Parts: sequence; structure tokens; C-alpha cells
Amino acid sequence: MEQYTQDIIAFIRKAFNNENSFIPLHAPHFGGNEKKYLSETIDSTFVSSVGEFVNRFEREIAAYTGAKHAVACVSGTNALHMALLVNDVQPNDEVLSQALTFIATANAISYCNAIPVFIDVDSDTMGMSPLKLKSFLEINAEKRGDGFTYNKTTGRRIKACVPMHTFGLPLRIDEVVSICDEWNIIVIEDAAESLGSYYKKRHTGRFGQVGIFSFNGNKTITCGGGGALITDDEELAKRAKHLTTQAKLPHAWRFTHDEIGYNYRMPNLNAALACAQLEQLESFLKDKRTLADSYHDFFEKEGVVQFVREIGHAKANYWLNVILFESTDAQTSFLKDTNENGVMTRPVWDLMNTLPMFKRCQHDELENSRWLADRAVNIPSSVRNKS
Ligand SMILES: *Cc1c(COP(=O)(O)O)cnc(C)c1O
Repeated sequence: MEQYTQDIIAFIRKAFNNENSFIPLHAPHFGGNEKKYLSETIDSTFVSSVGEFVNRFEREIAAYTGAKHAVACVSGTNALHMALLVNDVQPNDEVLSQALTFIATANAISYCNAIPVFIDVDSDTMGMSPLKLKSFLEINAEKRGDGFTYNKTTGRRIKACVPMHTFGLPLRIDEVVSICDEWNIIVIEDAAESLGSYYKKRHTGRFGQVGIFSFNGNKTITCGGGGALITDDEELAKRAKHLTTQAKLPHAWRFTHDEIGYNYRMPNLNAALACAQLEQLESFLKDKRTLADSYHDFFEKEGVVQFVREIGHAKANYWLNVILFESTDAQTSFLKDTNENGVMTRPVWDLMNTLPMFKRCQHDELENSRWLADRAVNIPSSVRNKS
């Protein structure tokens, strides 16, 4: 094992105050009212999709992010599916997104029978590159008489764009939005990983038409499984809520539905957990920043690998810390050595365009995406025990 790998393992073990046992990448932390709220929910019998905690969680997520409306869902993937549907993404439309993202982004696009197109990321933010987006559109797109933008090669309408704030690092979202505005393309932010991350003092997920978050077990706060979408548009929020509740029309006893809906509403049990976790978000963020700062200082001195920091104007939640190696060989050895020694690390996801379902999708050169995939490694980033 390389000396620097030994040093990094020692540093991580010290940071987590853990000499010998397994250190996960991101473990949930339950240090607040979780059990209290859960047992209140059980006592109330309102464990399913009607209940006070669901409404409360929606109000609180909206208030926290500064959005006018929030709709809680069973998962972040559902929330993204809903966000695309309520923005009228139709079968055979194209949706611009990233090759470097978690599979959920491309899956949600596919649930609408729309077709993802993969745009490169910036190497510093690891999120969608406004420059690459602009040049993709200039080369491949044309605006037609109906006001929409079409892909000149495929003839399909380019309806939406889903940039993703990778690992909670804010991307240059204002630039992405202004390019999309010029082309009349709707922006839906996949902010699944970036609760608590800001760009130019505005919460991520609030730049596009709709933003979505995930509260899966490995995210900054968790409710077991869950998601939410946020928007300032009341009509979109109403329609999302309608679609997540089987498109049932409100009535005291009748079951009438006016379109094909989904069973996507977050259950009250999960919302109880979510409310308890949200109360601790600020303290989680503080601890994560302290850890990120100490990683930054350590890697700066150590000098072999580069620790990825937020860019100017951005405030990251540091959901998952990420380091970059000089070569794929160094990356591979590090992944092997750390995982064999009980310190969990992992590379970024396989790029979407390399997967069998998406390998025929159009993409640009993906130069930075490939560069990052060959070098990036996530290192342990859990909130540490403070109670
Ligand atoms: C976690 C995540 C989602 C949503 O995941 P769920 O597990 O469905 O809540 C979506 N996009 C990205 C980038 C994610 O990391």
C-alpha cells in the first residue's frame, strides 16, 4: 500500500474516532425527536399518506428552501418523475441532462417516455457545464415557429433540462437557467443531493421551474425513503399533489379520478422521521463543513490528491466529500486498499452513456465527465456523533 494511502486511512480513522471497525461512506444520524414523532404517529393511527407530519414537512421544506410550495413524495425519483410530468414533458421529447449523475435522473426521464441527452459537466463543480450546454444547443438545436427548440439531428423537441448538483456541490445554475430561457427549455433541478447547498445565496432547487430533493437513507437527512419537489408555481404544485394522490378529486366519500395518477405521496410515518431530521439539519451541515474543512487542510498538506471544494458564490452541503487522483491507476489502488481496510470509498457512478439502456442516447464529448470518472473518489462523509 502507498504511504499516502496509509496516511489518508489514518486521518479518516482519526476524524471518525474509529480505530478498527468499518467506516461507511454516509451513515444516517438519529439524534433528535425521531422516536418521539414516530410513536406519536403510530398512536394516532395515521401512518399512511394522510397525516399532520406530511403537511408539516411540506411547509417546513418550503420554508427552509424559500420556495412557495413543496410536495412530499415516496422518493426523490418519483419527485423528479412528477416534476417532468407537470412540466408537460411528453413521450418522444428530449431532456438534456448529465452523463455524470445517479441513475435516478435518467430513469425519471425514461418514465415519461422521453429521451435523455447527456451534456458534459464542469470539472470543478462536477455539475452541468453552461459552456458545453450552450455549444451543444448552438450546434444541434433550432428554434421553430411554435416557440419550442428542436434537435436538428433527431427532429425531436427539446423540452426540458435537468442539471444535477453533484455530491451537494452547487453547479453554475444561474448560467444554465439563462441559456435554457433563451431556448425556451424548462429547467428542473435535480437537487436530490444538495439540501442545504446554496448558489449566490439562493437555495439549490430554486433556480429552475421545479427542484427536487431525496431523503433516502444515504442522503444528508433521511426519512427511510422519501423525496419532495419545490416550486414557486402554485398551479404546478397543485397538479403535482393531485398526480401523487392517484388524481383523486376531493370529495367526502366518492372515489372519482380525472386522469391517470400515481401512488407517490409520502406516508406520514416517513414524514414523522423527516420532520425530526429537518430539525437537526443545521447542526448536520455544521459538522459536515467542519469535516470538509479538515479534509481540505489535510489534503493540501499531503499534496498527492486534490480535495474538491465549492466554487466561488457557492455554499456546498458537503454531502459526500470527493477527492481527485492523478491517474486511474492511483484511483483504482486507493479504492482497493481503502475498501479492503474497512474504510468505504467509491468512484463516481458509471457514466449514463455507458449503460445498456442509454448507450444509444446522444451526448457531447463528455471530456470532463470522463476525466472525473477516471479520477474521483468519494470518502467517508457521515455526520459524526455529537450527542
Ligand atoms: C438520491 C438521488 C435521487 C433520488 O433518489 P431516491 O432514492 O429515489 O430518493 C435522484 N437523483 C440523484 C442525483 C440522487 O443522488
